[in-house]
Amino acid sequence: MAARAGIVVTGTEVLTGRVADRNGPWLAERLRELGVEIAHTIVVGDRPQDVRDALGWLASAGMDLIVTSGGLGPTEDDLTAAVVGEFQGRPSALDEALEGRIWAILERLMRRWPDLDEDAIRRSNRKQALVPRGATVLEPVGTAPGLIVPPSAGSAGPTVVVLPGPPRELQPMWDVAIEAEAFRAAVAGAVEYRQHMLRLFGIPESEIADTMLKAREAGVDLDALEITTCLRRGEVEVVTRYEPEQQALYDAFAGLVAERHPRELFSEDGTSVDEQVASLLRESSRTVATAESCTGGLLAGRLTDLAGSSDYVLGGLVVYSNEAKTALAGVPAAVIAAHGAVSVEVAEALASGAIAALGTDVGVGITGIAGPGGGTEDKPVGTVCFSVATRDGGRLTRRLLLPGSRFDIRDRSTTVALHLIRRALRGELD
Ligand code: ATP
Ligand code: MG
Repeated sequence: MAARAGIVVTGTEVLTGRVADRNGPWLAERLRELGVEIAHTIVVGDRPQDVRDALGWLASAGMDLIVTSGGLGPTEDDLTAAVVGEFQGRPSALDEALEGRIWAILERLMRRWPDLDEDAIRRSNRKQALVPRGATVLEPVGTAPGLIVPPSAGSAGPTVVVLPGPPRELQPMWDVAIEAEAFRAAVAGAVEYRQHMLRLFGIPESEIADTMLKAREAGVDLDALEITTCLRRGEVEVVTRYEPEQQALYDAFAGLVAERHPRELFSEDGTSVDEQVASLLRESSRTVATAESCTGGLLAGRLTDLAGSSDYVLGGLVVYSNEAKTALAGVPAAVIAAHGAVSVEVAEALASGAIAALGTDVGVGITGIAGPGGGTEDKPVGTVCFSVATRDGGRLTRRLLLPGSRFDIRDRSTTVALHLIRRALRGELD
Protein backbone atom coordinates (compact mmCIF):
# COMPACT_ATOMS: atom_id res chain seq x y z
CA MET A 1 0.00 0.00 0.00
CA ALA A 2 1.17 3.53 -0.72
CA ALA A 3 2.54 5.65 2.10
CA ARG A 4 -0.13 8.10 3.25
CA ALA A 5 0.42 11.68 4.25
CA GLY A 6 -1.44 14.55 5.86
CA ILE A 7 -0.65 18.25 5.69
CA VAL A 8 -1.15 20.72 8.53
CA VAL A 9 -1.15 24.30 7.30
CA THR A 10 -0.83 26.65 10.27
CA GLY A 11 -1.49 30.36 10.39
CA THR A 12 -4.45 32.39 11.54
CA GLU A 13 -4.10 34.52 8.40
CA VAL A 14 -4.63 31.43 6.24
CA LEU A 15 -7.44 30.05 8.42
CA THR A 16 -9.35 33.32 8.19
CA GLY A 17 -8.79 33.62 4.45
CA ARG A 18 -6.69 36.78 4.60
CA VAL A 19 -3.89 34.88 2.87
CA ALA A 20 -4.75 32.18 0.34
CA ASP A 21 -3.04 28.87 1.08
CA ARG A 22 -0.23 28.25 -1.36
CA ASN A 23 1.57 25.60 0.66
CA GLY A 24 -1.09 22.88 1.01
CA PRO A 25 -1.70 22.52 -2.75
CA TRP A 26 1.99 22.79 -3.56
CA LEU A 27 2.95 20.10 -1.04
CA ALA A 28 0.09 17.87 -2.20
CA GLU A 29 1.44 17.96 -5.75
CA ARG A 30 5.02 17.24 -4.62
CA LEU A 31 3.87 14.31 -2.46
CA ARG A 32 1.91 12.91 -5.35
CA GLU A 33 5.00 13.06 -7.56
CA LEU A 34 6.81 10.98 -4.94
CA GLY A 35 4.06 8.37 -4.97
CA VAL A 36 2.82 9.33 -1.52
CA GLU A 37 -0.93 9.34 -1.19
CA ILE A 38 -2.15 12.63 0.20
CA ALA A 39 -5.14 11.93 2.42
CA HIS A 40 -5.96 15.18 4.24
CA THR A 41 -5.02 18.82 4.48
CA ILE A 42 -5.98 20.55 7.72
CA VAL A 43 -5.76 24.30 8.17
CA VAL A 44 -5.42 25.54 11.75
CA GLY A 45 -4.75 28.90 13.41
CA ASP A 46 -1.69 29.75 15.48
CA ARG A 47 -2.93 28.00 18.62
CA PRO A 48 -0.89 25.19 20.21
CA GLN A 49 -3.93 23.11 21.10
CA ASP A 50 -5.31 23.27 17.57
CA VAL A 51 -1.98 22.24 16.06
CA ARG A 52 -1.79 19.39 18.60
CA ASP A 53 -5.33 18.27 17.77
CA ALA A 54 -4.58 18.24 14.05
CA LEU A 55 -1.44 16.15 14.59
CA GLY A 56 -3.35 13.81 16.89
CA TRP A 57 -6.17 13.31 14.46
CA LEU A 58 -3.86 12.62 11.50
CA ALA A 59 -1.79 10.19 13.58
CA SER A 60 -4.92 8.35 14.68
CA ALA A 61 -6.04 8.16 11.03
CA GLY A 62 -2.86 6.19 10.30
CA MET A 63 -0.70 8.69 8.39
CA ASP A 64 2.90 7.64 7.73
CA LEU A 65 3.94 11.23 7.20
CA ILE A 66 2.71 14.64 8.33
CA VAL A 67 4.03 17.84 6.80
CA THR A 68 3.43 21.13 8.60
CA SER A 69 3.84 24.63 7.23
CA GLY A 70 4.25 27.85 9.20
CA GLY A 71 4.81 28.90 12.76
CA LEU A 72 8.62 28.68 12.77
CA GLY A 73 9.28 32.39 13.12
CA PRO A 74 10.83 34.12 16.13
CA THR A 75 7.60 35.45 17.67
CA GLU A 76 5.41 34.12 20.50
CA ASP A 77 2.77 32.74 18.20
CA ASP A 78 5.34 30.68 16.31
CA LEU A 79 5.11 27.42 18.16
CA THR A 80 5.04 24.57 15.68
CA ALA A 81 8.51 23.18 16.42
CA ALA A 82 7.84 22.98 20.16
CA VAL A 83 4.40 21.40 19.70
CA VAL A 84 5.71 18.79 17.26
CA GLY A 85 8.65 17.89 19.51
CA GLU A 86 6.31 17.41 22.43
CA PHE A 87 3.82 15.45 20.30
CA GLN A 88 6.55 13.06 19.18
CA GLY A 89 7.76 12.63 22.76
CA ARG A 90 11.11 14.19 21.94
CA PRO A 91 12.19 16.93 24.35
CA SER A 92 13.96 19.87 22.76
CA ALA A 93 17.50 20.99 23.50
CA LEU A 94 19.50 23.97 22.31
CA ASP A 95 21.65 23.21 19.28
CA GLU A 96 24.46 25.69 19.79
CA ALA A 97 26.02 25.25 16.40
CA LEU A 98 22.64 25.92 14.80
CA GLU A 99 22.17 28.94 17.06
CA GLY A 100 25.45 30.28 15.71
CA ARG A 101 24.41 29.74 12.10
CA ILE A 102 21.07 31.49 12.65
CA TRP A 103 22.88 34.32 14.43
CA ALA A 104 25.10 34.84 11.39
CA ILE A 105 21.95 35.29 9.28
CA LEU A 106 20.38 37.64 11.84
CA GLU A 107 23.50 39.78 12.08
CA ARG A 108 23.32 40.43 8.37
CA LEU A 109 19.65 41.43 8.71
CA MET A 110 20.39 43.61 11.76
CA ARG A 111 22.77 45.73 9.77
CA ARG A 112 19.74 46.89 7.83
CA TRP A 113 17.80 47.63 11.07
CA PRO A 114 20.38 49.13 13.40
CA ASP A 115 17.87 50.20 16.08
CA LEU A 116 16.71 46.70 16.99
CA ASP A 117 17.02 45.36 20.52
CA GLU A 118 19.88 42.87 20.31
CA ASP A 119 18.89 40.99 23.50
CA ALA A 120 15.40 40.32 22.20
CA ILE A 121 16.85 39.04 18.96
CA ARG A 122 19.26 36.76 20.85
CA ARG A 123 16.31 35.30 22.76
CA SER A 124 14.29 34.56 19.68
CA ASN A 125 17.41 33.23 17.99
CA ARG A 126 17.77 30.73 20.82
CA LYS A 127 14.13 29.74 20.51
CA GLN A 128 14.61 28.95 16.82
CA ALA A 129 17.64 26.80 17.64
CA LEU A 130 15.74 24.44 19.97
CA VAL A 131 15.77 21.03 18.32
CA PRO A 132 13.75 17.99 19.45
CA ARG A 133 16.04 15.11 20.33
CA GLY A 134 16.76 12.89 17.33
CA ALA A 135 15.32 15.34 14.81
CA THR A 136 17.04 16.17 11.53
CA VAL A 137 17.64 19.90 11.08
CA LEU A 138 16.86 21.46 7.70
CA GLU A 139 19.08 24.51 7.28
CA PRO A 140 17.26 27.87 7.22
CA VAL A 141 16.35 29.39 3.87
CA GLY A 142 15.14 32.56 5.63
CA THR A 143 15.98 32.58 9.32
CA ALA A 144 13.94 29.61 10.53
CA PRO A 145 15.32 26.07 10.33
CA GLY A 146 12.95 23.24 9.43
CA LEU A 147 12.87 19.83 11.08
CA ILE A 148 12.20 16.20 10.37
CA VAL A 149 10.96 14.68 13.61
CA PRO A 150 10.64 10.88 13.65
CA PRO A 151 8.19 9.12 15.96
CA SER A 152 9.56 8.27 19.39
CA ALA A 153 11.48 5.01 19.57
CA GLY A 154 9.25 1.97 19.28
CA SER A 155 6.19 4.00 18.26
CA ALA A 156 4.45 3.33 14.97
CA GLY A 157 3.34 6.95 14.64
CA PRO A 158 4.06 9.29 11.75
CA THR A 159 7.23 11.18 10.96
CA VAL A 160 6.58 14.93 10.99
CA VAL A 161 8.30 17.30 8.56
CA VAL A 162 8.18 20.86 9.90
CA LEU A 163 8.55 23.60 7.29
CA PRO A 164 8.36 27.41 7.41
CA GLY A 165 5.30 29.34 6.19
CA PRO A 166 6.61 31.67 3.47
CA PRO A 167 6.36 29.72 0.18
CA ARG A 168 9.72 31.05 -1.01
CA GLU A 169 11.30 29.42 2.08
CA LEU A 170 9.18 26.27 2.17
CA GLN A 171 9.76 25.25 -1.43
CA PRO A 172 13.58 25.13 -1.47
CA MET A 173 13.58 23.49 1.97
CA TRP A 174 11.28 20.74 0.70
CA ASP A 175 13.84 19.75 -1.92
CA VAL A 176 16.39 19.27 0.85
CA ALA A 177 13.93 17.47 3.15
CA ILE A 178 13.08 14.72 0.66
CA GLU A 179 16.75 13.77 0.33
CA ALA A 180 17.13 13.19 4.08
CA GLU A 181 17.38 9.64 5.39
CA ALA A 182 14.64 10.30 7.96
CA PHE A 183 12.24 11.32 5.19
CA ARG A 184 13.04 8.35 2.99
CA ALA A 185 12.47 5.99 5.88
CA ALA A 186 9.02 7.49 6.48
CA VAL A 187 7.84 7.04 2.87
CA ALA A 188 9.55 3.71 2.23
CA GLY A 189 6.20 2.19 1.29
CA ALA A 190 5.57 4.69 -1.51
CA VAL A 191 4.56 3.24 -4.87
CA GLU A 192 4.85 4.94 -8.19
CA TYR A 193 1.75 6.56 -9.59
CA ARG A 194 1.33 7.88 -13.06
CA GLN A 195 -0.86 10.86 -13.74
CA HIS A 196 -2.11 12.15 -17.06
CA MET A 197 -4.32 15.02 -18.00
CA LEU A 198 -6.62 15.31 -21.00
CA ARG A 199 -8.03 18.73 -21.81
CA LEU A 200 -11.19 19.37 -23.80
CA PHE A 201 -12.87 22.54 -24.94
CA GLY A 202 -16.39 23.20 -26.12
CA ILE A 203 -17.99 20.32 -24.30
CA PRO A 204 -20.05 20.05 -21.09
CA GLU A 205 -18.77 17.86 -18.26
CA SER A 206 -21.83 15.64 -18.64
CA GLU A 207 -20.50 14.48 -22.02
CA ILE A 208 -17.40 13.12 -20.30
CA ALA A 209 -19.59 11.34 -17.78
CA ASP A 210 -21.40 9.76 -20.71
CA THR A 211 -18.11 8.72 -22.32
CA MET A 212 -17.09 7.07 -19.05
CA LEU A 213 -20.36 5.17 -19.06
CA LYS A 214 -19.67 4.03 -22.63
CA ALA A 215 -16.16 3.00 -21.62
CA ARG A 216 -17.56 0.76 -18.89
CA GLU A 217 -20.03 -0.73 -21.37
CA ALA A 218 -17.10 -1.42 -23.72
CA GLY A 219 -15.45 -3.40 -20.93
CA VAL A 220 -12.85 -0.84 -19.82
CA ASP A 221 -12.52 -1.39 -16.06
CA LEU A 222 -12.46 2.23 -14.92
CA ASP A 223 -12.38 1.24 -11.25
CA ALA A 224 -8.65 0.58 -11.53
CA LEU A 225 -8.15 4.20 -12.62
CA GLU A 226 -8.72 7.21 -10.38
CA ILE A 227 -10.43 9.65 -12.74
CA THR A 228 -11.40 13.18 -11.74
CA THR A 229 -12.96 15.71 -14.06
CA CYS A 230 -12.98 19.40 -13.38
CA LEU A 231 -14.31 22.41 -15.25
CA ARG A 232 -11.75 25.20 -15.29
CA ARG A 233 -11.66 28.43 -17.30
CA GLY A 234 -14.20 26.99 -19.70
CA GLU A 235 -12.22 23.82 -20.34
CA VAL A 236 -12.83 20.32 -19.03
CA GLU A 237 -9.77 18.73 -17.44
CA VAL A 238 -9.77 14.96 -17.03
CA VAL A 239 -7.03 13.89 -14.65
CA THR A 240 -6.33 10.20 -14.24
CA ARG A 241 -4.06 8.64 -11.65
CA TYR A 242 -3.06 5.01 -11.91
CA GLU A 243 -0.42 2.47 -11.04
CA PRO A 244 2.06 1.66 -13.83
CA GLU A 245 0.58 -1.79 -14.47
CA GLN A 246 -2.68 -0.12 -15.49
CA GLN A 247 -1.06 1.68 -18.43
CA ALA A 248 -2.91 -0.36 -21.07
CA LEU A 249 -6.20 0.36 -19.34
CA TYR A 250 -5.47 4.08 -19.29
CA ASP A 251 -4.51 4.00 -22.97
CA ALA A 252 -7.85 2.34 -23.75
CA PHE A 253 -9.73 5.01 -21.82
CA ALA A 254 -7.78 7.90 -23.38
CA GLY A 255 -8.31 6.32 -26.81
CA LEU A 256 -12.04 6.22 -26.28
CA VAL A 257 -12.13 9.89 -25.25
CA ALA A 258 -10.16 10.79 -28.39
CA GLU A 259 -12.50 8.71 -30.55
CA ARG A 260 -15.68 10.21 -29.16
CA HIS A 261 -14.50 13.84 -28.90
CA PRO A 262 -11.98 14.31 -31.70
CA ARG A 263 -12.67 18.01 -32.13
CA GLU A 264 -13.00 18.93 -28.48
CA LEU A 265 -9.95 17.04 -27.20
CA PHE A 266 -7.13 19.50 -27.76
CA SER A 267 -4.52 18.24 -25.33
CA GLU A 268 -3.54 14.66 -24.63
CA ASP A 269 -0.39 15.49 -22.70
CA GLY A 270 -1.76 18.13 -20.35
CA THR A 271 -0.34 21.09 -22.28
CA SER A 272 -2.47 24.20 -22.02
CA VAL A 273 -3.97 26.02 -24.98
CA ASP A 274 -1.67 28.93 -24.12
CA GLU A 275 1.38 26.68 -24.56
CA GLN A 276 0.01 25.20 -27.77
CA VAL A 277 -0.64 28.62 -29.31
CA ALA A 278 2.87 29.67 -28.33
CA SER A 279 4.45 26.62 -30.00
CA LEU A 280 2.30 26.97 -33.12
CA LEU A 281 3.34 30.61 -33.51
CA ARG A 282 6.99 29.90 -32.78
CA GLU A 283 7.25 26.86 -35.03
CA SER A 284 5.75 28.71 -37.99
CA SER A 285 7.57 31.98 -37.20
CA ARG A 286 4.30 33.87 -37.23
CA THR A 287 3.44 36.93 -35.15
CA VAL A 288 0.20 38.00 -33.49
CA ALA A 289 -1.42 41.23 -32.32
CA THR A 290 -4.73 41.87 -30.57
CA ALA A 291 -7.40 44.57 -30.52
CA GLU A 292 -9.58 44.13 -27.44
CA SER A 293 -12.62 45.94 -26.20
CA CYS A 294 -14.45 44.14 -23.37
CA THR A 295 -11.39 42.14 -22.30
CA GLY A 296 -9.30 45.31 -21.92
CA GLY A 297 -5.98 43.68 -22.77
CA LEU A 298 -6.49 40.43 -20.83
CA LEU A 299 -5.87 38.36 -23.95
CA ALA A 300 -2.64 40.21 -24.64
CA GLY A 301 -1.75 39.60 -21.01
CA ARG A 302 -2.32 35.88 -21.38
CA LEU A 303 -0.43 35.72 -24.67
CA THR A 304 2.56 37.47 -23.10
CA ASP A 305 2.52 35.35 -19.97
CA LEU A 306 4.93 32.71 -21.27
CA ALA A 307 8.67 33.25 -21.35
CA GLY A 308 9.90 34.03 -24.85
CA SER A 309 6.56 35.47 -25.97
CA SER A 310 8.33 38.58 -27.29
CA ASP A 311 9.31 36.38 -30.26
CA TYR A 312 5.73 36.18 -31.50
CA VAL A 313 3.49 38.69 -29.69
CA LEU A 314 4.02 42.14 -31.13
CA GLY A 315 1.43 43.95 -29.04
CA GLY A 316 -2.18 44.68 -28.32
CA LEU A 317 -4.58 47.56 -28.66
CA VAL A 318 -7.07 48.27 -25.88
CA VAL A 319 -9.98 50.00 -27.58
CA TYR A 320 -12.83 50.51 -25.19
CA SER A 321 -14.75 53.45 -26.61
CA ASN A 322 -16.06 53.69 -30.16
CA GLU A 323 -13.66 56.56 -30.78
CA ALA A 324 -10.70 54.41 -29.73
CA LYS A 325 -11.85 51.57 -31.97
CA THR A 326 -11.78 53.96 -34.91
CA ALA A 327 -8.71 56.00 -33.99
CA LEU A 328 -6.43 53.16 -32.89
CA ALA A 329 -7.74 50.05 -34.62
CA GLY A 330 -9.10 51.65 -37.78
CA VAL A 331 -12.65 50.35 -37.34
CA PRO A 332 -14.75 52.45 -39.76
CA ALA A 333 -17.24 54.58 -37.81
CA ALA A 334 -19.86 53.55 -40.37
CA VAL A 335 -19.44 49.86 -39.42
CA ILE A 336 -19.98 50.69 -35.75
CA ALA A 337 -23.00 52.82 -36.62
CA ALA A 338 -24.52 50.13 -38.83
CA HIS A 339 -23.98 47.06 -36.62
CA GLY A 340 -23.24 48.35 -33.11
CA ALA A 341 -19.94 48.19 -31.26
CA VAL A 342 -20.69 44.62 -30.16
CA SER A 343 -21.04 42.83 -33.48
CA VAL A 344 -19.19 40.28 -35.55
CA GLU A 345 -18.52 43.02 -38.12
CA VAL A 346 -16.69 45.13 -35.55
CA ALA A 347 -14.80 42.06 -34.24
CA GLU A 348 -13.63 41.39 -37.80
CA ALA A 349 -12.62 44.99 -38.30
CA LEU A 350 -10.69 44.88 -35.00
CA ALA A 351 -8.80 41.75 -36.07
CA SER A 352 -7.90 43.33 -39.42
CA GLY A 353 -7.05 46.57 -37.62
CA ALA A 354 -4.60 44.77 -35.33
CA ILE A 355 -2.83 43.28 -38.35
CA ALA A 356 -2.73 46.62 -40.11
CA ALA A 357 -1.54 48.53 -37.06
CA LEU A 358 1.28 46.17 -36.15
CA GLY A 359 2.04 44.30 -39.38
CA THR A 360 1.50 40.84 -37.85
CA ASP A 361 0.57 37.55 -39.51
CA VAL A 362 -2.40 37.03 -37.20
CA GLY A 363 -4.82 39.55 -35.68
CA VAL A 364 -7.45 38.98 -33.01
CA GLY A 365 -10.48 41.16 -32.30
CA ILE A 366 -12.76 40.89 -29.27
CA THR A 367 -15.80 43.00 -28.53
CA GLY A 368 -18.58 42.16 -26.12
CA ILE A 369 -20.71 43.02 -23.12
CA ALA A 370 -19.22 41.79 -19.85
CA GLY A 371 -21.84 43.56 -17.75
CA PRO A 372 -23.40 43.94 -15.33
CA GLY A 373 -25.81 46.27 -17.09
CA GLY A 374 -25.50 47.39 -20.66
CA GLY A 375 -27.15 44.39 -22.28
CA THR A 376 -30.15 44.50 -24.59
CA GLU A 377 -32.69 41.87 -25.57
CA ASP A 378 -30.83 41.28 -28.79
CA LYS A 379 -27.38 41.40 -27.18
CA PRO A 380 -27.65 40.38 -23.53
CA VAL A 381 -24.80 40.59 -21.04
CA GLY A 382 -22.30 37.88 -21.94
CA THR A 383 -22.57 38.44 -25.68
CA VAL A 384 -19.03 38.44 -27.02
CA CYS A 385 -17.89 38.55 -30.65
CA PHE A 386 -14.51 37.17 -31.65
CA SER A 387 -12.57 37.24 -34.86
CA VAL A 388 -9.19 35.84 -35.75
CA ALA A 389 -7.77 36.96 -39.09
CA THR A 390 -4.66 35.82 -40.88
CA ARG A 391 -2.74 38.06 -43.19
CA ASP A 392 -3.42 35.79 -46.16
CA GLY A 393 -7.16 36.34 -45.80
CA GLY A 394 -8.16 33.46 -43.56
CA ARG A 395 -10.78 34.18 -40.94
CA LEU A 396 -12.56 32.57 -38.00
CA THR A 397 -15.39 34.57 -36.45
CA ARG A 398 -17.78 33.66 -33.65
CA ARG A 399 -20.53 35.27 -31.64
CA LEU A 400 -21.09 33.57 -28.26
CA LEU A 401 -23.19 34.04 -25.16
CA LEU A 402 -20.93 33.38 -22.17
CA PRO A 403 -22.31 32.72 -18.68
CA GLY A 404 -21.23 34.04 -15.31
CA SER A 405 -20.03 37.21 -13.67
CA ARG A 406 -18.08 40.02 -15.28
CA PHE A 407 -14.87 38.28 -14.21
CA ASP A 408 -16.03 34.96 -15.67
CA ILE A 409 -17.10 36.48 -18.99
CA ARG A 410 -13.83 38.34 -19.45
CA ASP A 411 -11.72 35.36 -18.40
CA ARG A 412 -13.70 32.89 -20.51
CA SER A 413 -13.37 35.25 -23.47
CA THR A 414 -9.60 34.95 -23.37
CA THR A 415 -9.92 31.14 -23.38
CA VAL A 416 -12.29 31.20 -26.35
CA ALA A 417 -9.97 33.55 -28.23
CA LEU A 418 -6.96 31.32 -27.60
CA HIS A 419 -8.87 28.31 -28.96
CA LEU A 420 -9.84 30.25 -32.06
CA ILE A 421 -6.23 31.35 -32.57
CA ARG A 422 -5.14 27.72 -32.16
CA ARG A 423 -7.63 26.57 -34.81
CA ALA A 424 -6.66 29.35 -37.19
CA LEU A 425 -2.97 28.52 -36.80
CA ARG A 426 -3.74 24.87 -37.54
CA GLY A 427 -5.54 25.94 -40.68
CA GLU A 428 -8.93 24.82 -39.37
CA LEU A 429 -10.77 27.81 -40.77
CA ASP A 430 -14.48 27.12 -40.77
P1 ATP B 1 8.27 33.77 9.72
O1 ATP B 1 9.67 33.64 10.19
O2 ATP B 1 8.16 34.57 8.46
O3 ATP B 1 7.29 34.17 10.80
P2 ATP B 1 6.90 31.25 9.84
O4 ATP B 1 7.39 29.89 9.54
O5 ATP B 1 6.53 31.56 11.24
O6 ATP B 1 7.92 32.27 9.25
P3 ATP B 1 4.33 32.15 9.29
O7 ATP B 1 4.51 33.15 10.36
O8 ATP B 1 3.36 31.10 9.53
O9 ATP B 1 5.68 31.46 8.93
O10 ATP B 1 4.05 32.85 7.92
C1 ATP B 1 4.85 33.94 7.46
C2 ATP B 1 4.23 34.50 6.20
O11 ATP B 1 4.32 33.54 5.17
C3 ATP B 1 2.73 34.79 6.31
O12 ATP B 1 2.45 36.08 6.74
C4 ATP B 1 2.25 34.58 4.89
O13 ATP B 1 2.39 35.76 4.16
C5 ATP B 1 3.18 33.53 4.37
N1 ATP B 1 2.51 32.23 4.48
C6 ATP B 1 2.48 31.41 5.55
N2 ATP B 1 1.79 30.31 5.32
C7 ATP B 1 1.33 30.43 4.05
C8 ATP B 1 0.53 29.60 3.22
N3 ATP B 1 0.04 28.43 3.64
N4 ATP B 1 0.26 30.04 1.97
C9 ATP B 1 0.74 31.23 1.54
N5 ATP B 1 1.50 32.05 2.27
C10 ATP B 1 1.79 31.66 3.52
MG1 MG C 1 5.19 33.54 11.96
